[in-house]
Amino acid sequence: MIRVHQIALPLDHPPVALPAAVAKRLKLPVEALGELQLFRRSVDARHKDAIELVYSVDVAVADEAAVLGKLRRDHQVVATPEPLQRPSIPAPEGFASGERLRPVVVGAGPCGYFAALFLAQQGYRPLLLERGKPVKQRTADTFGFWKGRLPFNPASNAQFGEGGAGTFSDGKLYSGVKESKRHGRWVLEELVESGANPEILVLNKPHIGTFKLVGVVRQLRERITALGGEVRFEHHVTGIELAAGSRQLQAVLLADGSRIATDAAVVAVG
Ligand SMILES: Cc1cc2nc3c(=O)[nH]c(=O)nc-3n(C[C@H](O)[C@H](O)[C@H](O)COP(=O)(O)OP(=O)(O)OC[C@H]3O[C@@H](n4cnc5c(N)ncnc54)[C@H](O)[C@@H]3O)c2cc1C
Repeated sequence: MIRVHQIALPLDHPPVALPAAVAKRLKLPVEALGELQLFRRSVDARHKDAIELVYSVDVAVADEAAVLGKLRRDHQVVATPEPLQRPSIPAPEGFASGERLRPVVVGAGPCGYFAALFLAQQGYRPLLLERGKPVKQRTADTFGFWKGRLPFNPASNAQFGEGGAGTFSDGKLYSGVKESKRHGRWVLEELVESGANPEILVLNKPHIGTFKLVGVVRQLRERITALGGEVRFEHHVTGIELAAGSRQLQAVLLADGSRIATDAAVVAVG
């Protein structure tokens, strides 16, 4: 595949204009192009009376090497990079059967849920402990408080509870972080699997959309549990217990005085 960047077209362009512009850029007839795959779409609004959509697309052509060679001076035309290989650390024997202790994840915010999802996908059957309530009850508690109908609940509010701190935001999904392994793509793909609009994979500045996060968070939880993980709400972790004389984790401690035995924990409390 060849990736072609910086194809700028007017905001109201007809669909056929995109393959035509790509073909022109590659100096090929339109018929020589395979199906276009949208990689990125952004908006150039610097000129208010001539707003443009700017595309990056992947396209297959018959002789890629020849096309790339012919256009070697055009730095916006490159070979499409290999897709990210996701890390794989399959659970050793003993996790599926329950002989090995489950890893514990503390906190059901984005960090905790993605840690738990990855562990569940790898077969570790993680146990996630969240201090607050499931997102539906959390929403009722939070809006009840904001509207003056309910008292403030320190464990179930705009900050605490399933989904974490930004659950009631519009879910902006872009950042200035440049990470070479492109794990951000993995996060976006998992959000789409959990009900987010597939457009987030191509938009330059994607948003989940106000209140859509609530449904996405619920589906993330359902996927974790379908893979053998477990989520326990209203479980406030207050400490950890180490083996005597060593730094080996033995248990996490809960506010109600109970303990949950484990030898591995991810603490994702924000
Ligand atoms: C109003 C608002 C809008 C935002 N909008 C955006 C945005 O659009 N885009 C963006 O990228 N970021 C946004 N953020 C920031 C984003 O929400 C945070 O960066 C993100 O939530 C951090 O994730 P986290 O999992 O590390 O922690 P948190 O989201 O804080 O999650 C921690 C979780 O741990 C639980 N917890 C805490 N202590 C314990 C304990 N002792 N035991 C058990 N559970 C515990 C909490 O209840 C919570 O669910 C926003 C934040 C806010 C407040």
